[in-house]
Amino acid sequence: MTSKPLRIGISACFFYPDPSRRVFGPKTLLYAEQSMMRWVMDQGAMPFLIPESHPNFAVSDLLEQFDGLLLQGGSDLSPTSYGEEPLRPEWSGDLHRDLYEIALVHAAIAQDKPVLGICRGAQLLNVALGGSLYQDITTQLEGARLHRDAVMYDTLHHDLAIVPDTPLAEMYAHLSHHRVNSVHHQGLRTLGKDLRVEARCPEDDIIEAVRLVPAGHGSANPAPYAFAVQWHPEFQDPQDTALLDRRPILQEFFDAIQQRASR
Ligand code: MN
Repeated sequence: MTSKPLRIGISACFFYPDPSRRVFGPKTLLYAEQSMMRWVMDQGAMPFLIPESHPNFAVSDLLEQFDGLLLQGGSDLSPTSYGEEPLRPEWSGDLHRDLYEIALVHAAIAQDKPVLGICRGAQLLNVALGGSLYQDITTQLEGARLHRDAVMYDTLHHDLAIVPDTPLAEMYAHLSHHRVNSVHHQGLRTLGKDLRVEARCPEDDIIEAVRLVPAGHGSANPAPYAFAVQWHPEFQDPQDTALLDRRPILQEFFDAIQQRASR
């Protein structure tokens, strides 16, 4: 690699003060899941954890430091973020993180920095653009298949139905069978503004991929880049050919960054 690596800002997960935790019990932690950082480096870019804004550094100042925004998975969203009350206390989610990441998404789109969302990141992108979620797929969508199992975790898989004539379809046009892992109990319900579905689970129609496609853009005036998937490419073994090759997803995100740099 001769040119400087891309700098990818990764949104943080949070651990809040918890006296039962033996290390940093009374403290709040910002963290990233290891395989997400490794996935980015596997493809030659540098991952960085994005801190919260601070009186000296607004969200837009933080984002200026990065070439793109990667929204990682983790805790549930708070139903408050899409105007609902939690149906069960355990589905209350993480409002603090929602607000932090929603501000990052708006700043990224305003600065024309590409956005890639993974799992919770797909849900967050949808909610940031005004969409809503199933608080719990199993209880709110009759006939839904299992999308998360605490023991099977990322070994739980299902097929993927990719919408024809979309960039995702083009990305995987060489494959006749599409299969992904599944580690989520929430799902996209109503779509956020200008989001288009690019894949669903064929068994229950749960949305598995979305892309921002705002009207009024063309080659002279390119649209902002935001794409998100409900599955976890970062958890995949790159050698595992049973699942969709994870590399094109990150490469498309990197290409979107590089196109902007060369404009
Ligand atoms: Mn799924």
